[in-house]
Amino acid sequence: MSAAEVVDLPVVVLGGGLAGVACAHRLADADVPVVLVDRNDYHQFQPLLYQVATSQLPAEDVARPHRTVFRRHPAVQVRTIEAVAVDAGARAVTLADGQVLRGSALVLAAGAQPEFFGVPGAAEHAFPLYSVADAERLRRHLHDVVRTGADAPDGARHVVVVGGGPTGVETAGAVAELFAALAHTGRLAGPAKVTLVDRGSALLAPFAEASHAYAHEHLVRHGVDVRLGTGVAAVHADRVELTDGTVLPARTVVWGGGESAAPILAGAGVPTGRGGRVTVRPDLRVEGLHHVYAVGDAANVPDGDGDGTLPQLGSVAQQSGRTAADNLLRERAGEDPHPFRYRDKGIMAMIGRNAAVAEVGRKHHQVEGPVAFAAWLGVHAMLLSGAHSKTDAFLSWGWDYFDRDHAALVEMSSTPHRIAWGDDEADVPHIVVDGTPARSAAG
Ligand SMILES: Cc1cc2nc3c(=O)[nH]c(=O)nc-3n(C[C@H](O)[C@H](O)[C@H](O)COP(=O)(O)OP(=O)(O)OC[C@H]3O[C@@H](n4cnc5c(N)ncnc54)[C@H](O)[C@@H]3O)c2cc1C
Repeated sequence: MSAAEVVDLPVVVLGGGLAGVACAHRLADADVPVVLVDRNDYHQFQPLLYQVATSQLPAEDVARPHRTVFRRHPAVQVRTIEAVAVDAGARAVTLADGQVLRGSALVLAAGAQPEFFGVPGAAEHAFPLYSVADAERLRRHLHDVVRTGADAPDGARHVVVVGGGPTGVETAGAVAELFAALAHTGRLAGPAKVTLVDRGSALLAPFAEASHAYAHEHLVRHGVDVRLGTGVAAVHADRVELTDGTVLPARTVVWGGGESAAPILAGAGVPTGRGGRVTVRPDLRVEGLHHVYAVGDAANVPDGDGDGTLPQLGSVAQQSGRTAADNLLRERAGEDPHPFRYRDKGIMAMIGRNAAVAEVGRKHHQVEGPVAFAAWLGVHAMLLSGAHSKTDAFLSWGWDYFDRDHAALVEMSSTPHRIAWGDDEADVPHIVVDGTPARSAAG
């Protein structure tokens, strides 16, 4: 390929999550043509998936069609199709229809997938929580669970959540609240139970000790059976075997136990490290390749302080996507790329209604309760602003959600409380779960 040919080609961005969208927006702002490839025609906001799974939000509220996301960025052409192969050396992506997209540059932003660590039965029987489709599938399953009659088999109303990180803690808290609300209003035919299992010795391991204790105490107070220091040995349709020999009768296992890089990256001709994620240089370029970057959950993003890497967080994805775009623009201008500098706004988790922990800012100042929730809301509003224009709707939904004791209103059968995005009807994403479309926005 000649130099002129290369410059004329668009930048190919594989993945339209937080990282890919941030990168494409930045490039389009500089009038650089971009082709963005994603299997879904929407961007999904993972931090709120557990709320979809527990009927607190409809699926449409955490997904946004890419055509809306890029409405004001005509330089971005979106291709909604599965990518089946990547040849990073050639900066080429092969699509499911056989077409090969070659770019002047390639940005790998394909995210991650649930990692079952080879636990027998987990891939077949557990419910992962990584996509809107996963969340909707779990919501439908829980819908059936709460409708089981008094003669339900053993474990029918027992939910085992695997993983004591933010995903597991948030999900366990929300399911426990859902069961409590349904029991309170007489809509459960028998007792329901939530168990959280983690190999480690504390919940929310990346947080400080005070947050471990706060999360533990909150979950236990809400009836969650927290089992630490034990892993999952096998998952069956009707029970879970733990590594300490315990067998828990349970027909619902939610997998928040870890993730690894998107499978397409394994054969892409790029160096990979922990979790199968792409190894990148401090400026996010892939070692040994020209004009190829990897960002977000697809990469082991260097922390800039030494040999460490940053966790898989929305803010890391968004910021690394933007930096990759800035560096591509520098390369096009004949300048050297800059190293990625992460602006750490802290880490936070919602443990339940009215309960959150946060470690705010670079120094991770610890807060809990309403202040932590305000921090959670602010950081997530910033993340959402990349793809959803109306963050004020999100903020007012958030305060309402936090403020109100609406346990008694939780209703599995009716339309859940919405974030009032107020967008037009054409803005409804096309979410398909196991061949069937999810509810419509009106639904
Ligand atoms: C349940 C959950 C809760 C979370 N909560 C928080 C939180 O509270 N705060 C926080 O900061 N972070 C949170 N995170 C992490 C955060 O959401 C991620 O770090 C971030 O979304 C990663 O963005 P990404 O763009 O790298 O990947 P993704 O958002 O996963 O995007 C990757 C995109 O690539 C597409 N893709 C992949 N392979 C292909 C292919 N072969 N063909 C076509 N398209 C493909 C996918 O469809 C997807 O749209 C959470 C994650 C999960 C799973």
